[in-house]
Amino acid sequence: MIVRYVQFLKELHAHLNTSFSQQTLQALVARKAVHNSECLQWQMSLDDFKEMDDSFNIFKCIHQVVNDEEAVYKLTYDVIHEFAEDNVKYLELRSTPKDIPSTGMTRDLYVRTMLRAVHDCHLENVDIMVYILLSIDRRNSVEIAQLTVDLAEKFYKETGVVVGLDFSGHPGIGNAADFIPVFKSAKEKGLKISCHLAELAMYEETLAVLRQSPPDRIGHGTFLHRYDPGQGYEEIEDTVISKRIPIEACMTSNLKTNTVSKYSEHHFDFWFRKRHPVILCTDGKGVYKTSLSGEYIHAARTFSFSKQDLWQLTLGSIDHIFAPDTIKTLLHNKWQLACP
Ligand code: 5GP
Repeated sequence: MIVRYVQFLKELHAHLNTSFSQQTLQALVARKAVHNSECLQWQMSLDDFKEMDDSFNIFKCIHQVVNDEEAVYKLTYDVIHEFAEDNVKYLELRSTPKDIPSTGMTRDLYVRTMLRAVHDCHLENVDIMVYILLSIDRRNSVEIAQLTVDLAEKFYKETGVVVGLDFSGHPGIGNAADFIPVFKSAKEKGLKISCHLAELAMYEETLAVLRQSPPDRIGHGTFLHRYDPGQGYEEIEDTVISKRIPIEACMTSNLKTNTVSKYSEHHFDFWFRKRHPVILCTDGKGVYKTSLSGEYIHAARTFSFSKQDLWQLTLGSIDHIFAPDTIKTLLHNKWQLACP
C-alpha cells in the first residue's frame, strides 16, 4: 500500500551539498584527488555521527570538493536525476551561493550553474519539476544574507526558477533574530522563506522570528511544541498553529544528529495528529543515507498510517510548495491521476 501512495512525492527540504549519492561523492573526491587522511576519515564517518556538530564537520569536507563550476553542475545534475528516480515529481533544492576566489567561483556563477543543470535536466525530459531556494548561512554576516536576498530576487525575476530563500547553518552560531530585517526585505520582494527554527531548544530567537517575521515554512521545528510548559514555549506553539506555518520534518536526519531519540518520538506525529501541515523531507539524503520514499516508509510503519493518512499527507504537501499557484494546480491534477 505504501508503495502505491509514494508514487508521487514532493521534496521541499533538500540541501544540495548534503544530498549527494555515494557514486557522485566518489567522482567528486576523485576529481579533486583529495586522498589525505582527513577526507578518507570523513567518508567513513558518514556511518558514525552522534550529534549535530559531527554533521557540520562533514559539511565542511564536502564543501572542499564542491568548490568549482564543474562540481556544482555535476552535483546538481546528479541530485535531480536521483530524486526523479525515487519518484519525486517536485523538488525544491536549496543551496548557499559561495564566493571561492581560488576556483573563480562567485555567488552569481554558483546560482547560474545550478540553473544550468536544472535547465539541462528539463531539456532531457527528466520527469521532475525543480525549483531553487538560495540559502543564507547564519554563520555569515547580515550583509552577506542581504546579498543573497538580492541575488534571489534577480534570478526570481530572470528565470522564475529561484522562488525563495532558506535560512540555515549551525544553530549554535549567531542569532536568527539578527536576520529579521533580511527576512522582511525578502518578503517585500515577493520571495518565500523557509527558516530552520527551533532545531535546538532556542526559545528567544524562535519567538523573536515568529513574532516579527514569521516564515512561510519552518525547517525541522524540533522544539516548537509544548514540551516544557511554563517556560514560555506556549506562545511558540500557539503562533505556529494559529498562523498554520508548515513544518518540514526530517526524521532520519534528526535521529542521526540526536535531536530526536527514536522515530516513534519524532515531532512529526504531534503535528500530524493535530492536522497541522507537516511535510516529510530528507534534509540531506547523502549525509543521512536516506531517500524520500524511505522517509515515507519509516513514518508509515512507525505511526501506523491509514490509507487516509497517506492520502492526506501526500496531497497536503502540494499546498505548501513555493512555486506559483499554476504549478500547484498542475500538481493537484497530476496527483489525482497518479494515485488510486
Ligand atoms: P549547501 O548550502 O552548501 O548546499 O548545503 C550545506 C549547508 O546547508 C550547510 O553548510 C548548512 O549551512 C546547511 N545545512 C545542511 N543541513 C543542515 C541542518 O540539518 N541544519 C542546519 N541548521 N543547516 C543545515
